[in-house]
Amino acid sequence: MKNLKKLIILTGPSGVGKGTVVKEILDKEKNIWLSISATTREPRDGEKEGENYYFLSQEKFKEMIEKKLFLEWAQFAGNYYGTPLSSVNEKIKQGFTVLLEIEVEGAKQIKEKFPNSLSIFLLPPDIAELERRIRNRGTEKEEAIKKRLSRADYEISASNEFDFALTNSDVNETAKRIIKLIQT
Ligand code: 5GP
Repeated sequence: MKNLKKLIILTGPSGVGKGTVVKEILDKEKNIWLSISATTREPRDGEKEGENYYFLSQEKFKEMIEKKLFLEWAQFAGNYYGTPLSSVNEKIKQGFTVLLEIEVEGAKQIKEKFPNSLSIFLLPPDIAELERRIRNRGTEKEEAIKKRLSRADYEISASNEFDFALTNSDVNETAKRIIKLIQT
């Protein structure tokens, strides 16, 4: 799987709008497959097993780490998140462009393992807007919001380590720019 040009990493702080941009990309481009991650965090209202995430116990997640079943994994805001290796391999073999929507530490791991992957960092217009987006989303309790915001400065400071950094002001525009980057 080395030297692959078919692996796209979309990263950036929580609340920047990665999920919304991904939905728009998948709507526009049918040959892109979004990897479904595993996590130990609790499902949010409406989230479905195998659709949004594979929701795992810590024990099961750690077992998968030991068995080397993740392409990458990281801890974020008190939970584990990881990309299952097998489905990514399978989809690439089937000819799909594989999209990973992951946080910064995992994105760095993928960049190192696959230097030919395309990595895109999404920036918020500014920090106040990032906070507003996380709060408006209404999916996290105050404690979780604080953890996510306190991580955002560090994450944003890593934005120049990726191939492209795009400011996500308009979802439709951002999705179009990403599709262009993938196609060239
Ligand atoms: P959330 O709890 O909001 O769904 O996700 C929290 C953060 O974890 C987001 O930045 C999201 O992109 C990231 N994330 C989701 N799946 C993975 C994964 O498989 N690996 C890594 N490293 N981060 C992930």
